[in-house]
Amino acid sequence: MPRALHDHDSADGLVPLDVAREAVLSQIHPLPPLELPLTDAYGCVTAAAVTAAVDLPEFASSGMDGFAVRAADVADASPDAPAELKVVGRAMIGQRPDATVGMGEAMKIATGAPIPGGADAVIPVENTEASGDLVRVFDTAAVGRHVRPQGEDVRVGDVLVAAGKRIGAPEIGLLANAGVPHPLVHPRPRVIVFSTGDELIAPTESPSFGQVRDANAYTLFGALREAGAIPVMAGIVRDDPEQLKEAVLSYEIQADAFVSSGGVSVGERDVVKAAFYRHGDVAFSKVAMQPGMPQGFGFLEGKPFFGLPGNPVSVFVSFEMFVRPAILKMMGRANLGRPEVSAALTGSIEGPRDKSVFVRVDVTRGAEGWSAAPTGGRGSNLISTVARANGLAVLPPGVGSLEAGERVTVFLFRANED
Ligand code: AMP
Ligand code: MG
Repeated sequence: MPRALHDHDSADGLVPLDVAREAVLSQIHPLPPLELPLTDAYGCVTAAAVTAAVDLPEFASSGMDGFAVRAADVADASPDAPAELKVVGRAMIGQRPDATVGMGEAMKIATGAPIPGGADAVIPVENTEASGDLVRVFDTAAVGRHVRPQGEDVRVGDVLVAAGKRIGAPEIGLLANAGVPHPLVHPRPRVIVFSTGDELIAPTESPSFGQVRDANAYTLFGALREAGAIPVMAGIVRDDPEQLKEAVLSYEIQADAFVSSGGVSVGERDVVKAAFYRHGDVAFSKVAMQPGMPQGFGFLEGKPFFGLPGNPVSVFVSFEMFVRPAILKMMGRANLGRPEVSAALTGSIEGPRDKSVFVRVDVTRGAEGWSAAPTGGRGSNLISTVARANGLAVLPPGVGSLEAGERVTVFLFRANED
């Protein structure tokens, strides 16, 4: 990819966003599948179709509390002329029936208990009257009445969960029921998160003048979790290339990918650039987007490395554009995008004409359809503008501004959860 990005560099040195994205995603592949226990496989995508080794239900059972009978024995039963059958036992849930039902016989049966041999219907208890070892049956029953047949739901060999499907609540229950405790899935990537900067401190510390509490590691933590990955908080690394290299490599063994923020622009303190430029396969590019223009991407020890810019809004937008789709692809997901809506702007927006510009907006749905309200200023340091937003409106290259009332495409980054 580093090469691909450079190949596509335009005269002004800017790589179009879609070219940069494609260059990244074309080098990302689903993680090798693992057989994971169900609770770990939950939320993951199956790497192969899971087929049933058993019928579901596995045995015919009663759908009612009552008596298991032969339908032929009660063919003429009525309230005035009940059929009288001999009760030969009791079919219990979780147990193989210890008797069979012969002609003129019945067995007491509980809901969910296996149907005893010989019986082919169940009479609900309210249509019967038992006394001693006899039961009087006041109603007829067709063959199969109140019997839940074996294999009614799933047959041996049926596909339980197709390949490439995400295991959600219904799927995990089905797999449990069908005796598939370790489905083959693409695991969740473990992503190592670094923040770079001499000015940074942990949010638990109190800053001396000029210091900044680390926001990005937490933004990335949340964004990675929401994407389904497992974030590993590797902490703050000072603007010292050797320290950064050392820190990154110390996590190599547990990493499926690395994400850092800061230190990729053109300032003196380009720590990420200094550490990884031409190291392994990492390249640094100017992507035609705002915010988030400087980007590093490549491979460290064979694992994808995303060197995001430092400003908090740039981190959020870069994550949406590059890291999130890559994470989803590593997890075997097919749809890497966000839901999009076309919304009417409540205020004007603007940005450089040569870039894809992302504007934080709050999208709501009213009687007249979707509308998008910009949540604040354009600066890529204005982190609260993201917290107030639920979508990113896009001004595509070639469009420098849009006025209130005009329609804009918005990527929604939150579900309607609150
Ligand atoms: P850089 O690209 O490293 O020069 O960072 C650009 C801007 O983002 C600077 O104002 C940094 O202080 C700020 N910044 C960098 N990393 C973080 C972080 N983890 N949390 C909050 N702000 C940051
Ligand atoms: Mg920095």
